[in-house]
Amino acid sequence: MTPTTSEATDVFAGIVGQPELVTQLRAAAARPVHAYLLVGPPGAGTASAARAFAAALLCHNGGCGRCRNCRLVLAGAHPDATTFVPEGAFLRVSDAEEITRMAMRSPVEGRRKVLVLADFHRVQKVGPALLKTIEEPPPSTVFVVLADSVPTELVTIASRCVRIDVAPLGVATLAGILVAEGVEADAARTAADAAGGNLDRARLLASDVGLAARREAWWRVPERLDGTGAAVAVVVAELMALVEAAAEPLRRAQAEALAELASDLAAAGGRGGGRAGMEAAHKRALRRHRADELRFGLATLGARYRHELDPAPLDAGALAAPVAAIDAIVDAARALVRNPNEQLLLQALFLRLPPLESTARS
Ligand SMILES: [Zn+2]
Repeated sequence: MTPTTSEATDVFAGIVGQPELVTQLRAAAARPVHAYLLVGPPGAGTASAARAFAAALLCHNGGCGRCRNCRLVLAGAHPDATTFVPEGAFLRVSDAEEITRMAMRSPVEGRRKVLVLADFHRVQKVGPALLKTIEEPPPSTVFVVLADSVPTELVTIASRCVRIDVAPLGVATLAGILVAEGVEADAARTAADAAGGNLDRARLLASDVGLAARREAWWRVPERLDGTGAAVAVVVAELMALVEAAAEPLRRAQAEALAELASDLAAAGGRGGGRAGMEAAHKRALRRHRADELRFGLATLGARYRHELDPAPLDAGALAAPVAAIDAIVDAARALVRNPNEQLLLQALFLRLPPLESTARS
């Protein structure tokens, strides 16, 4: 029987710009199998899709968005919807053991539990240890595995899951969503442009009055370099302070969400455990925000050196320095996934960058 939910307000209503994904998740929730793999680039929304999917799996009405199950899952506070996020750069044997234990435990409240495994592109060596668990969990457990990509180590696990691809959100799609939400067109375009395909970040940036100033600060970096470590130290310290301050709107939103959860839990009769889960999620979101800010900054800096090549200099010798700078910036952005000391990373990068004359941003 088709559940009689109103599609405008159900748990999938929050997944915008991804109609195909929503269709697939709705169909899967109606007849779930033991394991799903959601693959999408960072910021494409795999985590929020997984949460909506988990709510639909635990709701008695296909994900109505209004019942106690739906509200607690969406708030990250349902005892039978758990997300496992590996702490280290890669999964450890202890992580695999913990996941297996969680999978074997019976649901606390209903007949089903959902175990979301985040960041599984980092599975590396423990893949084989988890294969059996993910392939044949107890009938009450549904796995939702999330990954940015499917590296070799994840291929076997992937073959035991139903794979659902989450497409990246383009700049035009993001801007369209923001405009539909009431953001003025120019601001929407600027925020979408700086969001790296991430809708949460685009929403945050749309109300972020400091965005233009931060873009300008990164754009002007090469004008402030003079080949000395002293200049580099000053510039890096200023940028790090800007990155820190940029997280302020997110911190405010998180404080509000925690307060809302407290009243929601009181109203819905949930347990206190939800708060710790939300706090952990907030910490991860702050780390993510920081990495996004740095990636945005490095992308702006890369654009500045590309600007030097347009039009291409007639003297071939003048090409080498900007090209090398762009390569170094791309390398630094890639290194961010390894959780480096950000200050040292930027200092090392800036020491290698050639100073530039002041120019207006195109
Ligand atoms: Zn519901």
